[in-house]
Amino acid sequence: MSAGFVNIVDASQQLSFSAAVLAGLGSNDGLLMPDALAPLVDLDALLGMDRLQRGTQLLQHLIGADPLADAVPEILQQLLDFPLPLVALDEHTSVLELFHGPSKSFKDFGAGFLIACLQRMPSERRRVILTATSGDTGGAVAQAVARLQSADGDDNTSAVILYPESGVTPEQARFFCADDARVVSVAVDGSFDDCQRLVKQAFVDPALGQLNLISANSINVGRLLAQLLYYFDTAALHAQPEQALLAIPSGNFGNATAALMACALGLPFAGVLAVTNENDTVPRFLAQQQWQPQAVQRTISNAIDIAMPNNFSRILWLLQQRPELRQRFAAVRVDQSDNRQAMRALAAAEYPAEPHTALAWQACAQALQQGMFAADQAVVVATAAVDKFAGLVAQIVTREDGAAQATAMPQPDQQMAADYPALRALLQALV
Ligand SMILES: *Cc1c(COP(=O)(O)O)cnc(C)c1O
Repeated sequence: MSAGFVNIVDASQQLSFSAAVLAGLGSNDGLLMPDALAPLVDLDALLGMDRLQRGTQLLQHLIGADPLADAVPEILQQLLDFPLPLVALDEHTSVLELFHGPSKSFKDFGAGFLIACLQRMPSERRRVILTATSGDTGGAVAQAVARLQSADGDDNTSAVILYPESGVTPEQARFFCADDARVVSVAVDGSFDDCQRLVKQAFVDPALGQLNLISANSINVGRLLAQLLYYFDTAALHAQPEQALLAIPSGNFGNATAALMACALGLPFAGVLAVTNENDTVPRFLAQQQWQPQAVQRTISNAIDIAMPNNFSRILWLLQQRPELRQRFAAVRVDQSDNRQAMRALAAAEYPAEPHTALAWQACAQALQQGMFAADQAVVVATAAVDKFAGLVAQIVTREDGAAQATAMPQPDQQMAADYPALRALLQALV
């Protein structure tokens, strides 16, 4: 059994899994990582198991000695009730469809597991998961809170989801404007940045001491762990994982971190290719060894319009611990014009895809041609379902104006101006 979790900037800080989940961030703003990342001796046995057994064994190994370890089988049984297809596109390329969960985004894995863990931890005060969303996180959080409570019925956890009123699609909003008393959707008259600012203020507001406010953002190690499972499933499903690169559309680089952790644990993939759009801080850093974030540029792959990816320090830490992994990690940029081209090409090949998946496909087609990682197979990691971006896809692929199939915007539970007293009042009403 492992000691648990370590702070990557302060090795003297070691925490249990429960403590790591509740802390989110370690001391000195250090991110937390499991310390059990050595190659697994029983890898073959693990790959031979069914999905639930494999997930349980792996997560219990990573979590170590912690009361939550016993809850893992129940959590996974509820969480993984949807399929995980690996679809062949051609003889070299397959697509790992991570979007068959309740909010049609890969975030259902990470956010779902984190929330199921929280629901099983004792809390004397009412627990409120407070989240600002630009689209996909809110849906995954809301769906998880609504459906994953433990068998003995913890009703002490609710979610408050803040979103920019005119910044999300109806297809996204329908997952967090959920018809569930434990989920409060709040349309903010402002931008995503306004929503994030309001959330940050709430976390430091002493007037909210009667609530146990929790953040579900992607630096929480509880979100990371369940994302390793689908890479193990892929290694079990793929005929030649050692020949295959994984192409991952990357914003905060949590998904790419999980893939590299899975390689550290012994999965034989040829390489992990993180793919960004014009927000290319990481590809520039790897080429020039200089960390120079620029202003965020808005693109069609908007879930990865991020200039300061908050999980990248985990990747650097892992590559420092395990230098032999360096040759199996790379990051590339694909521009919007190529992203649109890729969406049209995929639609023509009868695999219509949303922008993020198409971006990764474009990058892996190039990487295979160039013989990157000496791979001759690629797995495109599909992070959202095409119908979550229906309007945009119609516009780009068939050049319709999208208005024809516009669906109505779901009604939020609350609406508010982008000023803090309104949020405080709303949260106080939950006590
Ligand atoms: C969140 C998201 C990503 C980015 O994932 P990271 O782990 O932050 O890199 C990619 N695609 C879609 C559709 C997303 O919602």
